[in-house]
Amino acid sequence: MSRSLRDRMFQEMQDKDIFEQARDYAYEYANTVQERTVFPSSKTLEQLKELDGQMPSAPGNPQHLLEELHRFGSPATVAQTGGRYFGLVNGGVIPASLAARWLSDFWDQNTPLYVTSPVVSQLEHTTERWLKRLLGLPDAIVAGFVSGSSMAILCGLAAGRYRLFKNQGWDINEQGFCGAPKINIVAGRHAHGTVIKAAALLGFGVANIQWVDCDDQGRIDIDKIPPLDQQTLLILQAGNVNSGAFDDFSIICKRAKEAGSWVHVDGAFGLWAAASERLKHLTQGMEDANSFSVDGHKTLNTPYDNGIVLCNDEDALVKALQASGSYILYNEKRDGMMYTPEMSRRARVVELWAALKYLGESGVDELVYGLHEKAVEFSLALEEEGFQILNKVVFNQILVGFKDDHCTHRIIEHIQRSGECWVGGGSWEDKAVIRISVCSWATTKEDIARSVRAFVAARDAVPGASP
Ligand SMILES: *Cc1c(COP(=O)(O)O)cnc(C)c1O
Repeated sequence: MSRSLRDRMFQEMQDKDIFEQARDYAYEYANTVQERTVFPSSKTLEQLKELDGQMPSAPGNPQHLLEELHRFGSPATVAQTGGRYFGLVNGGVIPASLAARWLSDFWDQNTPLYVTSPVVSQLEHTTERWLKRLLGLPDAIVAGFVSGSSMAILCGLAAGRYRLFKNQGWDINEQGFCGAPKINIVAGRHAHGTVIKAAALLGFGVANIQWVDCDDQGRIDIDKIPPLDQQTLLILQAGNVNSGAFDDFSIICKRAKEAGSWVHVDGAFGLWAAASERLKHLTQGMEDANSFSVDGHKTLNTPYDNGIVLCNDEDALVKALQASGSYILYNEKRDGMMYTPEMSRRARVVELWAALKYLGESGVDELVYGLHEKAVEFSLALEEEGFQILNKVVFNQILVGFKDDHCTHRIIEHIQRSGECWVGGGSWEDKAVIRISVCSWATTKEDIARSVRAFVAARDAVPGASP
């Protein structure tokens, strides 16, 4: 690297200029995001082509780069932190958690080992302990901090795969699938797409999944679960991605434990119900499961890139995920890479720790229960306007149905284009539906009232949609 470029970068790191510039843009964004259309306007989308230039042939000016990013990039974001975004299951962001992330960005830690980042090792240790208490999970549980539930599910199923094979005298790491004994993988028909992907990635084969029918809320039908044994990997869910429903853990997990099966609970957003006094009945009995996956970035409202795998069999999780290399210096203190598939990782536990530290136990309860309360309020207001709610709003998800799929699609389009709020579609019992996920602390009563008005306006504009 040329002397001059290095000198410039030293200067930029020491001067506050570009960081203050970025901070000013960020504040401006945060202060205007509520008033913006939730989805970017077509004009701002059109202007995205301004970012599509050639790669510069030589080093440029950081101020200009930031200016360009803010000018064309910020308006083309989805206003997900603003309180009227109800698509997918996307959380907002807790300010203290975001600020902690900013600080840790300057640390730029790599976090595989204690020796690469003692502070992150400590925060992972502490956060693991807090999570167990908060979610009512046994002491034997260990946590791995990963990018999201997709990865957490993969880790949980990999641990289960390792253990079930090992119990049959087969080392799946060494011997692979060729000639392996049989493992039955069992899931409800409503299992999330990432569960199916994980089963495929782990070599089980999607066609080998034994699908179990579900009830009208998307809960696995207990009587239809095949006989459980030591060769069964059973996948349950805490929070159906459409209806928000929870499987009946108290009966199933107990039965599975007695049979020696492995149970994984996909609780991407729903596991947090366990942290709320008034909602924890939904997760009752799940503590007997073997592995769990949950996101920080959904219900808990940490910034993105925050998932957790929890497992009661440390040996299985570590054996399933471990890597080796002569330069790896393990420590008796926590080495985070033992519990994740990644080696180099950013310090994502920082914002999870910060969210929990900031909220405290009662704050988490308030956040989680608040999302439920807002969802109930939203669904009642819609019903009052004559909309049909298709699910029991047990958590934060609402499904709205119309006469026919065509109407539903037109209404979704209309709402999305209005910019007033954003809702997505899905399918429920072979019918198109509108999915509403109340998942941000920032959603107010006024946001809900305004969104309901957008629903009414959309229905009025679509011929044949009125009841
Ligand atoms: C979102 C979600 C996932 C996937 O989680 P990511 O964090 O997006 O990887 C898995 N299962 C359920 C039920 C979900 O809602």
